[in-house]
Amino acid sequence: MMSTKLQLSAVLYGQEDLRLEKTPVPLPQKGEVQLAVKCVGICGSDLHYFEEGRLNKFVVKEPLILGHEVSGTVKAVGEGVTNLIVGDRVAVEPGVPCRRCEFCMEGKYNLCPNRHFCGAPPVGGAMRPVICHPAEFCYKLPDHVTFEEGMLMEPLAVAVHACARAEIKPGSSLLITGAGPIGIMVLIAAKAMGASNICVTDLVQSRVDFAKGMGASHTVLVKADDDIEVTAAKVSHILGCGHVQAAVDTSGAESAVQLAILVTKPGRIVATVGLGPANIAIPLNQVTFKQIDLRGCRTYCNNQHEVLNLVASGQVDIKPLVSHRFPLDQALEAFDVARGRQGMKCVLQCSEPELNGTVLQNGH
Ligand SMILES: [Zn+2]
Ligand SMILES: [Zn+2]
Repeated sequence: MMSTKLQLSAVLYGQEDLRLEKTPVPLPQKGEVQLAVKCVGICGSDLHYFEEGRLNKFVVKEPLILGHEVSGTVKAVGEGVTNLIVGDRVAVEPGVPCRRCEFCMEGKYNLCPNRHFCGAPPVGGAMRPVICHPAEFCYKLPDHVTFEEGMLMEPLAVAVHACARAEIKPGSSLLITGAGPIGIMVLIAAKAMGASNICVTDLVQSRVDFAKGMGASHTVLVKADDDIEVTAAKVSHILGCGHVQAAVDTSGAESAVQLAILVTKPGRIVATVGLGPANIAIPLNQVTFKQIDLRGCRTYCNNQHEVLNLVASGQVDIKPLVSHRFPLDQALEAFDVARGRQGMKCVLQCSEPELNGTVLQNGH
């Protein structure tokens, strides 16, 4: 249900067509909280929607409000909400599964085909001052955890899931291909899980430098047309261990996945998180002969509490990932900076909306 109030929102009409326009303020339905949005991150998937009008099989057919990395304050609660009260500061888990399909019943709700995902077609996202979201997918932040950290819990959850899929263990050696925000989050998560010899590659010098600053043991600046065998030999030499015990690709690029397969130890795992071209060539004979497990990683599942614990305990410091901050009304400028891929995480800041009785009627 919507109120008659309107609010500024970042709405994607299709490829390269992002507009700032007024949309109705949503009212909380049963089981939902209404949130005053504080921070929304621009994610690689938002850039896919912006630059290509689609992300894998999700196509923008109707105007779509983007944004799924979000934190905010509870402004109102819908009927039946017992876990949160007005004023609570929360991080949002944007994907809401059906809880009934075979995947949900197996506990793999990230694979739920009926999942509604905030900011993915056809569900409106969080690049607006007020959203509504099921209360059970909102996680209360301790007072000392900032809204930016709360917003960054979403990409950190992606990384924790990927590291779990890659079976990172204390002392693991690891190759991370791609040093964008997800690559850096994988670095942070892997270190927290005990990985000790980590090499990060990227095409952009500033990103490689950032990875080094965030604790990568080694970094390699690669070029798109590098000979993969030569790069693989270089990475193995730098790591001093021949092969890595795991690799996580966060780029989706053909050369990066090829490198990961070549560098990974026989019998071990290459986990893929990045989305690149729909079809890429991989050295399948290497996968077969080396008995490599090639594992896809889809968002995250059942890890929000451990992710919050990682942040709240201070075991990881994710704050440095925010490189740019823009008010919501400069969303177009923010997307321009984000697509340049020079900074790290670009954040839209929403100001406290002026709510009145119209909005606070809890949808009744
Ligand atoms: Zn994201
Ligand atoms: Zn389901």
